[in-house]
Amino acid sequence: MKALQAYRFALDPNQVQLAGLRRHAGAARFAYNWGLARVKAALSQRTAEQSYGLTGDLLTPVPWTLPALRLAWNAAKNDVAPWWGECSKEAFSAGLDQLARGLKNVTDSRKGKRKGRQVGFPRFKKRGKGRDSFRYTTGAYGPASETSVKLPRIGRVNVYEPMAALASRLADGRARLLGATVSRTAARWFVSFTVEVEREIPARPSWRQRTGGPVGVDLGVKTLAVLSTGQSVANPKHYQRAERKLRRASRAYARSKPSSAGRRQRAAALAHVQNRIADQRRDGLHKLTTRLARSHDVIVIEDLHVAGMVRNRRLAKAVATAGFAEIRRQLAYKTGWYGSTLVVADRWYPSSKTCSGCGWRNPSLTLSDRMFHCQSCRLVLDRDTNAAINLKHLVAASAVETKNARGADRKTAFARQVAVKREPGTAAAGQTGSATTSTVAARRRLTHAS
Ligand SMILES: [Zn+2]
Repeated sequence: MKALQAYRFALDPNQVQLAGLRRHAGAARFAYNWGLARVKAALSQRTAEQSYGLTGDLLTPVPWTLPALRLAWNAAKNDVAPWWGECSKEAFSAGLDQLARGLKNVTDSRKGKRKGRQVGFPRFKKRGKGRDSFRYTTGAYGPASETSVKLPRIGRVNVYEPMAALASRLADGRARLLGATVSRTAARWFVSFTVEVEREIPARPSWRQRTGGPVGVDLGVKTLAVLSTGQSVANPKHYQRAERKLRRASRAYARSKPSSAGRRQRAAALAHVQNRIADQRRDGLHKLTTRLARSHDVIVIEDLHVAGMVRNRRLAKAVATAGFAEIRRQLAYKTGWYGSTLVVADRWYPSSKTCSGCGWRNPSLTLSDRMFHCQSCRLVLDRDTNAAINLKHLVAASAVETKNARGADRKTAFARQVAVKREPGTAAAGQTGSATTSTVAARRRLTHAS
C-alpha cells in the first residue's frame, strides 16, 4: 500500500536566506492577490456585458482554474511584477494554486458537493496577516545532507533536527518526494516534505493485538485519556506549565494597547507559547495513538461533536486542548497501518451514564460527578473508566458485524467502523492515510514509545 506522509523540519536560515524566504512568501501572496483582483475584474466585466445582452463565448472569460490563472499570470508578469526573476516561479505558482483551490471550494460549496458551512469568496491577503507559505513541486528541492535542505533560489538551509530517516528512505527508493511546503509560524520557518511511502499492511491483527483485545478510550481534559483497562494516560510532560505560560501571555496581550509596538511583541510571544503547546500536544497524541493501534485489535472511541462543542465557550478550551478530532484522525490511519480496527461510538451513546456492570442508567449524572455510583448493582467506579468500559462493551455487542465489515463504513446500533482509505494518492497530507509528525525526533520517540 502506498501512503502519504509528511516530514516537517524547523529551518535555521542565515540572514540572506531569511530574506529569501520572506521574498518567496511575499511572491506567493502577490500572485494570489493579483489573481484574485483579475478574477473579480473579469466577473464584474461579465456582469456589465450581460446587461448589454451578450451571452456565451462573447462574454469575458474568468480565469477560474490553475491553468487559466497561470496563463494569465505569464502574460502579465512582465508588466505587473518586473522583478519576478528574483523568485522561483514555483512561489508564484503556489499562490495561484491556493487561489484556484479557494475558487473551486466556492463552486463545490454552491453545488452542494462540499459538506459544512457555505464557503465564502476568497479574500485578499494582507502582509503580516495569515500564514506565510509557498511550495515547491518541481526542480531540485529536498534534503541536501543530514542537516540541510536544498531550496531552489534560496540555497542550502540548515535544519534543527537531523533528517537521516527521511534521507535514507529517499536514497534507497522506499520513499518518493512529492512536494515541499515552506511556511512560517510565529518567528520560525519550517519545511514540510510530502512523501509517498510504501507500507506493508498486515492482513490480520498480530498476536500482541489479539492478546490486548478491544479497548475503550474515554478522551479527557485533565488527563489525555482514560482506558477501559483502568489506566489513565497523562498529558505530556511540562504541559501544565506551558498552559500557565499561555494564560499569562494571553492576559499580557489583552492588556496591551491596540496597534502599539508592545502589542506586536506580545502577539509574537503569545504565538510562540501557542506553538509550543501545539507541538507538545501533537507529540503526546502520537505516542498514545501509536500505542493503542499497535497493542489492541479494536479501539473504540466516542464520536464527539467537535464543531458544536467548540462553539460552547465553557467547553471550548477543553476540547481544543485535548485535540479530540486529532486523536480520531490519527487512529483512523494508524489502525489501517497496523491491522487493527477503529470503531466510533454513536454521538448519542450514553457511555458516561450507563453502569458498566449491569447496564443501569443514571440520567441525572452531571459533569461534576467524578465517580459513578450504581443504584442497581452498587458498583462504584471512576466515571471515566466506567465510560471507557462501556465503549469497550460496544465492540462485544457488535463483534460479528465489526469483523465482517473490515474496511467498510457500516453503522451498527451504536457503533460505526471508520473506513480507512487505502488507495494511493487519495489522501492529502494531514488527512486520512497520512502522518504528520512535528520532527524526526518526535517520530523516533514514537516508535520507541510503544
Ligand atoms: Zn450496576
